[in-house]
Amino acid sequence: MSPGRCLVFTDLDGTLLDHGDYTFQGALPALERIQQEGWPLIMVTSKTRPEVEELQERMGLVQPFVVENGGGIFFPSKYGHLDLPHAGAREHYRVVTLGRPYREIRAFLQDLPEDLSVRGFGDMSPREVQEATGLPERRARMARAREFTEPFLPPDGGRLEALKARAREAGLTIAQGGRFFHLMDEGQDKGRAVRIVRKAFEAYWNESCRTVGLGDSRNDLPMLQAVDVPVVVPNPDGSPPEISRDDVVRARKPGSAGWNEALQRILDGIV
Ligand SMILES: [Mg+2]
Repeated sequence: MSPGRCLVFTDLDGTLLDHGDYTFQGALPALERIQQEGWPLIMVTSKTRPEVEELQERMGLVQPFVVENGGGIFFPSKYGHLDLPHAGAREHYRVVTLGRPYREIRAFLQDLPEDLSVRGFGDMSPREVQEATGLPERRARMARAREFTEPFLPPDGGRLEALKARAREAGLTIAQGGRFFHLMDEGQDKGRAVRIVRKAFEAYWNESCRTVGLGDSRNDLPMLQAVDVPVVVPNPDGSPPEISRDDVVRARKPGSAGWNEALQRILDGIV
């Protein structure tokens, strides 16, 4: 890749982070290089804000990030120079909201008839979330701090279609994750968030930039389709994103090692 402005968008679980734990050791060499190049690293994830904040702190990063499958884009105060026409203030961030407030998502679930009812994080005690996710107590608490979307336990096969239809009528959609389904606003997705971040940076830089996106599963597809250089990181446990572009870069290893290897090739200008 020729030198110049670039934004790197990345999924977390199974992509920048190794599967099953939260380590990113394998990604360190490429992380250091993109920092040297001044390429902002934008996390785009189904995780919550507290989860991303904790990770950024561990990595020593202060960058914009996208949480809960494109529900909200958070810009830290050091990016106060970016022009964000529709942003609101939330604590020390400016936030572009694409999803719906969590209480509205919860209200939809609470109003469901008995035969369609499902159990979401908001119905579970912290301990139940801990048991359902296998996360340690502190991480389960962070995963439960929802702002835009609700994970819920899969209903029986027959009820899912009826639930999806009902969600559609309310302008909501249901996405399938690994262990949970996720209820969210139909207007939010990772790709829309990527386009908004790019537009804000390009307007400030007053020039166009390249965008790289890295992901390992189907819910990353809108992000991979919205970037110039899509990178698919192999996922040994799940179905890969089936992307119909012939310019896809395929990482050769899963998790942080694959992230590192593919990004090094991009930095070296090989792809
Ligand atoms: Mg993933």
